[in-house]
Amino acid sequence: MNEPTKNTDIPTSLANVQSLIEESAHRAGRKPQSIQLLAVTKKKPLADIEAAWHAGQRAFGENYVDEALEKIQTWQALHPDWPAQWHFIGSIQSRKAAAIATHFDWAHSVDRLKVAQKLSTNRPSDLPPLSVCLQINLDGEASKSGIPAEDAEALANQVAELPNLSLRGLMSIPAPRTGFEAQRAVFKELADLLSTLKSTHPKLDTLSMGMSADMDAAIAEGATVVRVGTAIFGARLS
Ligand SMILES: *Cc1c(COP(=O)(O)O)cnc(C)c1O
Repeated sequence: MNEPTKNTDIPTSLANVQSLIEESAHRAGRKPQSIQLLAVTKKKPLADIEAAWHAGQRAFGENYVDEALEKIQTWQALHPDWPAQWHFIGSIQSRKAAAIATHFDWAHSVDRLKVAQKLSTNRPSDLPPLSVCLQINLDGEASKSGIPAEDAEALANQVAELPNLSLRGLMSIPAPRTGFEAQRAVFKELADLLSTLKSTHPKLDTLSMGMSADMDAAIAEGATVVRVGTAIFGARLS
């Protein structure tokens, strides 16, 4: 874990990913600025985050609480004046919810009320509300994380009531599909679900979908956040 990335020129890869996002946005008739690039740094060392930061990247996604806290705390000690936004994108264990509420700006992977309540209760009062997305499982039995689409409205209604959370939208990690149209079809399901929820939750503004292999299709369907690791930092060792 956290082995240095080899043979990857992070600034160049980052610029390539930004160009891909721009091209996808233009093809979809969207403004590139309406899509936030989240650089996914799980299993990557702090030096890689620093390299991306120097190249202009500010938003970073992490999956594992202990690994992330080590990096975030070191970052804040070494670079107190370097602004960065930390997004938790891994599955949330309830006993780790307090740490996530304390150290992150966003949690993309809320999938049950108990976790949402713990995030809200433990959000420090000197911080703005934690931005959260509900994680939706679009593949039924094929993957374990997230709630079925039909449960989204009920959970959204409950999460929206929690005082120290700001419900922002939906996130999904669909099972890998080959081909643009197949990828696009599943992202459209998430986009349609967000539209439905917006009728009762008009402030929702976030569709967190698309990774290295399918961000083009996600952007075509309205992704506002793409979460990209491999295409920026290279393959993860381990
Ligand atoms: C690892 C991960 C990513 C990034 O995946 P890549 O294929 O490396 O771009 C995005 N989102 C989540 C939730 C992840 O766990």
